[in-house]
Amino acid sequence: MKIGIVGGSIAGCSAAILLRKEGHDIRVFERSNKALVGRGGGIGTTPTLMHQIREDGLIKGDFAYFQINKMPFVGKGKTTEPYGRTAWAMPMNFHVFQWNELWKKLRANVPDECYRAGIKIVDARSIEGGKVELTTELDERLHFDLVLFADGYNSMGRGILFPKKKLEYRGYVLWRGLLPESEMKAASPLKDEILRLSYDNEPGHNVVYFIPNENGSIKEGERVFNWAAYVAIPDAELSELMTDRNGKVRFGTLPPGNLTKENEKNLKSFLSKNIPYHYAEVVNKTQDSYIQVIYTLDLDSYRKDRMCLIGDAGIFVPPFTGSGVFKGYNNVKDLVNCLKENSNLEDALNQWSNMQLQSGKRLLALSAQMEKAFIWEQLDFATVNEKTTKEWWKTSITFPETFNYEKG
Ligand SMILES: Cc1cc2nc3c(=O)[nH]c(=O)nc-3n(C[C@H](O)[C@H](O)[C@H](O)COP(=O)(O)OP(=O)(O)OC[C@H]3O[C@@H](n4cnc5c(N)ncnc54)[C@H](O)[C@@H]3O)c2cc1C
Repeated sequence: MKIGIVGGSIAGCSAAILLRKEGHDIRVFERSNKALVGRGGGIGTTPTLMHQIREDGLIKGDFAYFQINKMPFVGKGKTTEPYGRTAWAMPMNFHVFQWNELWKKLRANVPDECYRAGIKIVDARSIEGGKVELTTELDERLHFDLVLFADGYNSMGRGILFPKKKLEYRGYVLWRGLLPESEMKAASPLKDEILRLSYDNEPGHNVVYFIPNENGSIKEGERVFNWAAYVAIPDAELSELMTDRNGKVRFGTLPPGNLTKENEKNLKSFLSKNIPYHYAEVVNKTQDSYIQVIYTLDLDSYRKDRMCLIGDAGIFVPPFTGSGVFKGYNNVKDLVNCLKENSNLEDALNQWSNMQLQSGKRLLALSAQMEKAFIWEQLDFATVNEKTTKEWWKTSITFPETFNYEKG
């Protein structure tokens, strides 16, 4: 089949590689004409998924990552201890890496003749003979047997297929930053951990961990400290926070260097009050922090005619589930299998859509559990004991069978 893929990021490149292997004729359209390095922060997934991705040939050669074995739950409280107090360290099995590294490796396996960078798709419609017509910004009209929208959380494709489905703001944002380890004043105790730092009687928490640097170095002293703070922002205050240094209100993300000095100062002071000294110092030293607004979106179908949604264009869940890579890869893997199992395309797409709805809704349910536990009913880890923390985790979070980062 001739398959058009809108979006050449994680899900789009994964789709291109797997579907090419099945003999399909692939064209990826990516609106950005540069290498995708934008936010360049950390991202992670389970070792099982990384293994599958490698087995499938999506990633070849060296790949810089850190193995994570623990998730300590840490609070500041009244203590002056610079690293805070750990209530419990949950055994964990996870890999973290640079987003850029993952994208570069995937992109390297999509031949240039299949990947058109700098081409924005502005419209899509079903036409006669069961085909789909894509319109580019330059008004080219291109015809395909199947189109996959891998165009991210604010998907144009989703808007065309299901115009009534809207992103739902969850009442909090993710404020993120990166600091090279060489710029940290004090050595960090972090090795193979992802830390979750609770705030003092405030909703939300801060996630911190090291990622390899942009050259793939994992050596101590050359790592990059990645922090991501969930901060509650009432609806009425969101547009003020999302107003950039030129006075423009941004939707969804405020890229590095755009947060106003005043808002950055306020956020830094909020975090300094709430997290242990060592981590507050890292946050305060960080320049060019950025903001990602947290939304969710549910769906009743992943397809219409010969158009499908994959990755964040499908059911959309917040980053704390750690499922971004998993979702995109599995959407495509299932599509490949459904196309193989069904000789009729309509049957294949229906079967595929139902499977994606089932797994997407499970991740959405997991995100609702995590949101309650990690944002609105976050324990203060400075005061609770190990038993209470273990019970809180056990009663709050149930992973779907197919996706779990707990160890043992
Ligand atoms: C530049 C960039 C940096 C990121 N950095 C991080 C990070 O550091 N940590 C993290 O956890 N997540 C990051 N993400 C998000 C992460 O990639 C996703 O949450 C997840 O991995 C699923 O990816 P996706 O391919 O479905 O969507 P996305 O990664 O959002 O990709 C969507 C792609 O579609 C393209 N696109 C959108 N509309 C059109 C159109 N009309 N025509 C053509 N192309 C279009 C976009 O330019 C983008 O490349 C980043 C995404 C991007 C695009």
